[in-house]
Parts: sequence; structure tokens; C-alpha cells
Amino acid sequence: MAFIDQYDFDALKNDAEKMVLQELGRQLEVYPDKICLCNECVLDIAAIALNAVKPLYHVSLLGGLYAAAIEDHSAYGESIKEAISTAIEKVRNNPSHDVKFDEPDESSDSADDTAEVQGH
Ligand SMILES: [Zn+2]
Repeated sequence: MAFIDQYDFDALKNDAEKMVLQELGRQLEVYPDKICLCNECVLDIAAIALNAVKPLYHVSLLGGLYAAAIEDHSAYGESIKEAISTAIEKVRNNPSHDVKFDEPDESSDSADDTAEVQGH
């Protein structure tokens, strides 16, 4: 029996994931610019943001008290917000597929390599 099958590793939960997804939903709701909200792009954003924040693993057998306590941790909350806004910008400027919005002035029908990345 493989080591990985000997234990219930499914009980390992990353609280950062839940917090990032909640915050991602909040930010996308109020995001001022047009951005593709397809499954691929939103999951790309989530993955980038999750890689940027410190993971918060706990064993779910012990309950969710730890997670609840962490949510008051404003420094960690700030790092999540920042990671998400950065991730949104990254995917918006460099989507993994052609993104077309119905803007008549900017039709990029044949350009697969859009030079739309604007430095800040
Ligand atoms: Zn998309």
C-alpha cells in the first residue's frame, strides 16, 4: 500500500483557498474594467492568486476555529486582496485565449498576439 493511501490526506484543507475565492468573487463584482469571466480565466486568476499567498493548511478533523480566527488577521487579508488584484491584472493583460469584447473600436480579429500589455 502506498504511503499516500495509508492516510486520509483529504482532511488537509487550505483555508487560503476559501478566503481567496471569496475575495475574488468580491473583487470581480466591482471590477471597473472589462475582463473575461469564463471558467478558464477565473480559474487562472485563482491559481495565480493562490500561488502568491501563504497557504493556510489545517486538518479538518480539528474543526474550523483556526480559519475563523485567521479571517480577522488584517495583514493576511490585505495580502490576499493584493494577490488577487495582481492576478486579475495579469490575466486581463495576458489571457490564455483570445478575448473579444463587443467594442467596435478595438477589433483584434486576426491578431493572436495582442500588444495590449500596458506597464504601470
Ligand atoms: Zn476567458
